[in-house]
Amino acid sequence: MGCGQSIPAGADTGTSVPVPGATPGDGEGIGVDGRLGRRQGTSATVLGHHQNAAKLGGDANPGGLLKGAEPSLSDPRARPEHFYHLFEKWPVIRPGLKEFLAKLLEAKTKGTVKRVFIYTANTSLHWVRFVMQCILKWHGFPLSLIDGIKHAPGGLKVVPENAVLYDDHPENAIGNCIQVDKYTNEIPWDMLAPLILSLPDHSPETCPCWEQCGGIKAFVDRDMAYKDRPHDPESDLTLYHLAEEFEPCEEVLLDMDETLLAGARISAYFNALNHFLMFRDEEFGTATGEKEGSVRAAQPAS
Ligand SMILES: [Zn+2]
Repeated sequence: MGCGQSIPAGADTGTSVPVPGATPGDGEGIGVDGRLGRRQGTSATVLGHHQNAAKLGGDANPGGLLKGAEPSLSDPRARPEHFYHLFEKWPVIRPGLKEFLAKLLEAKTKGTVKRVFIYTANTSLHWVRFVMQCILKWHGFPLSLIDGIKHAPGGLKVVPENAVLYDDHPENAIGNCIQVDKYTNEIPWDMLAPLILSLPDHSPETCPCWEQCGGIKAFVDRDMAYKDRPHDPESDLTLYHLAEEFEPCEEVLLDMDETLLAGARISAYFNALNHFLMFRDEEFGTATGEKEGSVRAAQPAS
């Protein structure tokens, strides 16, 4: 298995194993402001997350300059504001991420680190770039903090001599790799489902991939069938420790999925926004006409 394991499966909107017997129809009764109420674990996770965030210090958005927004019918596709909205509601992307990135920025400013790359096996480089830019902006870091994205086809990562890789899957790396505890504290579905259900639904005639899609309710039901993975509270502290112990290296490579963030659900939201805003039934206005993207498949790399 490659580092692909750590990918929020393409952003394939679901990484884990579907729960047998998860019934379609679970999504019924979800109002715009409704709680799903079916995930016992979620509210506990949210509460724990907020308590931890308060303890550890929440994420930034310095000066409150950035404002989140719920999707609206005039949006042509996913916008950073849709994700700022999530970050407002779920205040820590990964605890310590801001501190770790601040350390990198400091080292880059001093010149002790020359380059920083995201090194990912995720096939959706469009998504990787989008979410990393949202995170950098949200924390008030310059986009130039990250010099680019390197792709590891098949998941094997080769770390150059002068570089260090931070990754939750060191077994898939050749070279100098610092193991990062896996972070799986996904944004809960009861936050995402109302946002996704507010998008314009469409019909088989409009959808370029109806067999995988089936409309918004099917999309939500399908993704809700993926079970929350257990969250290890210890992993809340990992990036703080790594920031404290940080030793500069000419080139720093960062895995993204489950190293910098738990991205499966955020990428499901990204895919839903792009799919349902882009391909609309006529009464909602025109689609862009571009037949790109699929609900299940990764966004095409761009
Ligand atoms: Zn569709």
